[in-house]
Amino acid sequence: MYSLAFSILFVSFIILTLIVRFWLASRHIRHVLAHRSAVPAEFAEKIPLSAHQKAADYTVARTKFGLITLLVNTLVLVGFTLLGGLQWLSVEIFKLTGPGMVYQLALLAAFAAVSGIIDLPFDYYKQFGLEQRFGFNKMTPGLFFADMVKGLLLGAAIGLPLVWVMLTLMEKSGNLWWLYAWLVWSGFQLLMMVLFPTVIAPLFNKFTPLEDQSLKARIEGLMGRVGFASKGLFVMDGSKRSAHGNAYFSGFGANKRIVFFDTLLSRLQPQEIEAVLAHELGHFKLKHIIKRIVMMFAISLGFLALLGYLKNQVWFYTGLGVDPLLLPGQGNDAMVLLLFMLVLPVFTFLFGPLTSLSSRKHEFEADAFAAQHTDARDLVSALVKMYEDNASTLTPDPLHSAFYDSHPPASVRIRHLHAAAA
Ligand SMILES: [Zn+2]
Repeated sequence: MYSLAFSILFVSFIILTLIVRFWLASRHIRHVLAHRSAVPAEFAEKIPLSAHQKAADYTVARTKFGLITLLVNTLVLVGFTLLGGLQWLSVEIFKLTGPGMVYQLALLAAFAAVSGIIDLPFDYYKQFGLEQRFGFNKMTPGLFFADMVKGLLLGAAIGLPLVWVMLTLMEKSGNLWWLYAWLVWSGFQLLMMVLFPTVIAPLFNKFTPLEDQSLKARIEGLMGRVGFASKGLFVMDGSKRSAHGNAYFSGFGANKRIVFFDTLLSRLQPQEIEAVLAHELGHFKLKHIIKRIVMMFAISLGFLALLGYLKNQVWFYTGLGVDPLLLPGQGNDAMVLLLFMLVLPVFTFLFGPLTSLSSRKHEFEADAFAAQHTDARDLVSALVKMYEDNASTLTPDPLHSAFYDSHPPASVRIRHLHAAAA
């Protein structure tokens, strides 16, 4: 009874999500195409028509590609759940391994392998079809597959031990397992924040200390003014993979480092780089990063508590096309983890705009911080260049943007910055 009701609820949310996403995408495409023929007045002197049209075409192509992957992912999701894919996979693996931990790890690995194989042609097309067509791809197929193999090995080396700890807690630590699992998960996240910049990212990219002495002096001056200590300034060879440019921070505590993509440094003037960095420092100084981490921990605690409840509800499994193994020691926990991770995005999709809203608020605050500590006009000109170079549209559909975008539309950001400069 509950099982059928849950199936119906699940299907309803899938359909609702599809409708909302298709509707937003079609609005976005129409809006971008309707504004394709002219550069918006406020950018007319700064961005050539050809670049504006390239951004429109790139946005439309990406949005359409997003719809195709959405359809495929939805079919895969339904195939794994209601159509019995996971049930079949688990029965076949159970026959080979028998009950217990090996069965569970094998189930998770098999699921990861199947999803990886399904994703592969889409990832490949995205890089060598879409990004290539617009001149952003800098990867060779050799590098693409080398990255994939490294990613797989790294995922197994980090993921398997973590999953083993989680499954052991689920089985052996009683009713409050989800609380212990949360502590482990949070500790793991913090550990990754330390390991990512120092150990993991260097496996994929080269990081060299920033050598340009006058730029370095300028940046150190800014850091001194705002009171920020960092372990170093690095340049990353982002141009190895993509022409898109960026700058970011990583690590925390004494481990903080600032990373510039070489693609960004080659395009921006020193004072523009300083302004971009001031924006990033704003995120740090205004405690956006720590707020985001705390929020993430609170949300994962809520979700793990929910999982603690769902784990013992037979309808959660049968409603999603799976017969649970409920005898002690058979090893049902990997299955509930899988089901939970698969269906969670379906139920949380409609909350996406809340995240976007809070993120956009932070972007305005970081811009204001940058305007206070550097010249706002430098950030404006840096933004214009970054929009042009990344072929980001200047004319998104307002509703699409409000729903998905972590950053406010360029014109709105720039209007705020001009107000700050005046
Ligand atoms: Zn920002």
